[in-house]
Amino acid sequence: MSQTLQAVRGMNDILPDDAETWEYFENIVRDWLQSYGYRPIRMPLVEPTPLFKRAIGEVTDIVEKEMYSFEDALNGEHLTLRPEGTASCVRAAIQHSLIAAGGPQRLYYYGPMFRHERPQKGRYRQFHQIGVEALGFAGADTDAELILMCARLWDDLGLEDVALEINSLGAPEERAQHRAALIAYLEQHQDKLDEDGKRRLHTNPLRILDTKNPELQAIVEGAPRLADYLGDESKAHFEAVQVFLKDAGIPFRINHRLVRGLDYYNRTVFEWVTTRLGAQGTICAGGRYDGLFAQLGAKPQPAAGFAIGIERLLLLWQACGGESERAAPDAYVVSVGEAAQRLAMRAAESLREHGFAALMHCGGGSFKSQMKKADASAAPVAVVIGEEEAAAGEVGLKPLRGGGVQLRVSLEALPEAMAALLYSDESVQEGQ
Ligand code: ATP
Ligand code: MG
Repeated sequence: MSQTLQAVRGMNDILPDDAETWEYFENIVRDWLQSYGYRPIRMPLVEPTPLFKRAIGEVTDIVEKEMYSFEDALNGEHLTLRPEGTASCVRAAIQHSLIAAGGPQRLYYYGPMFRHERPQKGRYRQFHQIGVEALGFAGADTDAELILMCARLWDDLGLEDVALEINSLGAPEERAQHRAALIAYLEQHQDKLDEDGKRRLHTNPLRILDTKNPELQAIVEGAPRLADYLGDESKAHFEAVQVFLKDAGIPFRINHRLVRGLDYYNRTVFEWVTTRLGAQGTICAGGRYDGLFAQLGAKPQPAAGFAIGIERLLLLWQACGGESERAAPDAYVVSVGEAAQRLAMRAAESLREHGFAALMHCGGGSFKSQMKKADASAAPVAVVIGEEEAAAGEVGLKPLRGGGVQLRVSLEALPEAMAALLYSDESVQEGQ
């Protein structure tokens, strides 16, 4: 016998119980984004590999070791399953001249991302992000609004234990000066660096500050701080962001070692972290990336954004007692006999036409077994059709919660009778 096939490691099925939670959550998210004026955009899951190399940077975890890249067997193109959305979103904005045609853009997307990482709780090879990008906006007001937005979503979801960390990466020239000082410092400690550190010393030393290796902590603590290299404009921008955050009453911590794993950031960067999810504690990360448009060969445009990891956010939401309501149908339709079944089909359609959710019993069986299913469905009402009802062109309406007598009405009168039962009979509404 051949073995049954399994999903790819780190790529999960989201089964109905969970998928319902996802959809419930997605509805909250859509309203939240709309309330800040963000509009949806949908990009392909596959992009030319050079897009990510140029946008994210060659010397980053993602590009060095996490991308699903392949050659299209038919035409030899180098393609990659998107590991993140910002590069694609900016590529799309450039390709379709969105800013030139419509001014600054507030955009969001939602969907799967792919990274070849070691799967564990909160870390998968296919995972999902909500990406929010403000393209063409230069000010600290935008940076602050992006952060305020996140805080509001956490609030809407009732999340606890989420803390904000912010930092400024300054301007490219300031980073260059800091980089020279950092390299000089790290060279003195070269023998103590790990393999990644040695390799990055001259290519991406800033990322060494971001290391998770506990043995490097002491070296990292003593390293030159980027904050000491910021010029007046960068400082003023960072200050202005902090003023908005204080006005909004959002506590934050300045984390000088917050450098972010992607090359494209400048000025404000931020992360929302929780202690409730173990090592995978960052639920949302973002910042300003004024250099990305030019890096992709377009006219420079200021921009900022963030991405939320949905799996981590949902884990935290559930840890905080978040629960989606299971939607029950308004009616469960049972029928026995051929004529009754035909009437049942019409009755169910008539209910749906009037906006009710009707679950029709399919597959036959006795009244008793069908009524058991009706009860299990959590519907407040059963529509019951036997041979007698069918012959009269009528249906029975049986309240399933909190008592109440069974009615019999014509097919035409069914929607109205249903509404009366659901919306004016307190015993039905309070029944559960
Ligand atoms: P980490 O340091 O945890 O690897 P990152 O810096 O690589 O995160 P980003 O590229 O900033 O992550 O992505 C934004 C968010 O997407 C993260 O904060 C996290 O919530 C989520 N995320 C990133 N990688 C994964 C993954 N492999 N599985 C699940 N969620 C992820
Ligand atoms: Mg990562």
